[in-house]
Amino acid sequence: MKAIVMGGGMSGLATAINLLDLGIDVSLYEADEIFGGRASSWLDEDGDMIDNALHVFFPYYVNLVEFFKKMGIYENIIWKPTEFYYAQPGGKQAVLKFIDLPAPFHAMYAYAHMLKDYKNVPLWKVLSAAIPLGSGLLMSKEKVDELDKISMATFVHKYAFLDGLKPMEPGINGLTFTPSYAVSAKVMLNWVLKVMGSAQTARVGFANGGLGDIWVDNCLGYIKEHGGKATLKKAVTSINIENRKVKNIVLNDSDKEEADIYISAISPYSLRKILPDECYSLLYFRDLWHFQHAPSLSLQIWFDKKLTDVDVTFFSNDCIFNTYADLSNVLPQIFKGGSMFEMVLTPADHIVGLPDQVIFDTAIEQIKELFPSARDAGIRKWKVVRERQGVYRPHPGMEEHRPFQRSPYDNFYITGDYTKTHVSSGGMEAAIWTANKTAELIAADKLGKQISLNIEFEPNEPFIKLMKPALIAGSAGAALWAVALAKKKLKK
Ligand SMILES: Cc1cc2nc3c(=O)[nH]c(=O)nc-3n(C[C@H](O)[C@H](O)[C@H](O)COP(=O)(O)OP(=O)(O)OC[C@H]3O[C@@H](n4cnc5c(N)ncnc54)[C@H](O)[C@@H]3O)c2cc1C
Repeated sequence: MKAIVMGGGMSGLATAINLLDLGIDVSLYEADEIFGGRASSWLDEDGDMIDNALHVFFPYYVNLVEFFKKMGIYENIIWKPTEFYYAQPGGKQAVLKFIDLPAPFHAMYAYAHMLKDYKNVPLWKVLSAAIPLGSGLLMSKEKVDELDKISMATFVHKYAFLDGLKPMEPGINGLTFTPSYAVSAKVMLNWVLKVMGSAQTARVGFANGGLGDIWVDNCLGYIKEHGGKATLKKAVTSINIENRKVKNIVLNDSDKEEADIYISAISPYSLRKILPDECYSLLYFRDLWHFQHAPSLSLQIWFDKKLTDVDVTFFSNDCIFNTYADLSNVLPQIFKGGSMFEMVLTPADHIVGLPDQVIFDTAIEQIKELFPSARDAGIRKWKVVRERQGVYRPHPGMEEHRPFQRSPYDNFYITGDYTKTHVSSGGMEAAIWTANKTAELIAADKLGKQISLNIEFEPNEPFIKLMKPALIAGSAGAALWAVALAKKKLKK
């Protein structure tokens, strides 16, 4: 049996590997000149490492962790202490510092630790926002799912002061490339619950090297060893359908390729351009037009001196960047001789059309405000990365439009971080989860084999489990006590 995988990002490469493991013959075609998609890196003309953008890993990426272990590359993730530094004007920093306490006390401690130095918003406003965020821990999965109908800001505003969400804004922007007023409350709560729900899962991992260097070559090696083929610079330019099946695909507008199974691992924007009109009589394919691009940019700046010793993630409010790290501290073996800031610029709707120079000038002004030591630092070089940017915008109501991996066409499957999964609205874990799901479906549909590749993240935190019954028992006790008191008063 032969399969064609379209797209050589994380989901496409992982799907190819899964299918080879099932004994299926695989040919993968990638349009770009490098593999890895958005999780890639390369060397520039000076031999400096350029990441497509700063990527962080979380321990609740359980399927990605399994995949990396299988590829023998798990050691390529460097796990850091669970600390997020808020850089504030004048060099003042606040630290969201998680310590080893059982959940949810680890999160309460972290919040309190951050609040003592966080100056952007009055304390009581931030504390008010902790109520709706914490209430997520007591909600059923169905209730959290329902919150896909409203935005995160609407959800918080119902119970608290909207300004109280400000410390979370850089995290929301960095994860979804979307402001809190436009992002689904379900999507954000899903993330908050993972971090608040377990002390171990609040850690952050970085690539120990160039983002693509740590995983792409191992995947390509595996594909080759197992008889698969992966080819660059081959864009799928059309998908031909006959009798509700894919008949063939066309590469670079010229060569036709045929297989028994076809898997799209390309973005919804690319896919909808190459599908024939007849697909859009089906709601399944029409859903692809709901996806909107949330743009981002990446900025790397090489300073000639150290600006900080912090080797974890920075957050900033009210800047064109929101999540970033000084990679000279994370990867001192690579970035020597001064700080190298790698910054995610998002939501980038209002800056993506600006010239690189204007973007850099704006960013450096803001950096000098937050890091006074930057004021007399020389800049060795800087680079704005525009290629392979963006994720889809997870605004309210988007969850129901994410396509299931099995399409209505018998031999056509769709994978990628935007396709249907409960793990997150996108990101590397979603890319691997959907690749696993696709292989599970193909094994069942085409080989009659039931296989189970995906594993679930299950925080095992006794205090969280006790919180709900304790609250119900407490409320029932209080109600009984009030009734008894009222009866006593009536008797008198
Ligand atoms: C700025 C930025 C920061 C991010 N930070 C994080 C992070 O911190 N943590 C995290 O988990 N995730 C992060 N992500 C998201 C992560 O990069 C993606 O979730 C993941 O790489 C998606 O993999 P994918 O295979 O689904 O899609 P992609 O990587 O987009 O792969 C799709 C592939 O298909 C190819 N293709 C497109 N059209 C065609 C065609 N017609 N024919 C053939 N090939 C085609 C593309 O060239 C590409 O290689 C970030 C993304 C960006 C942009």
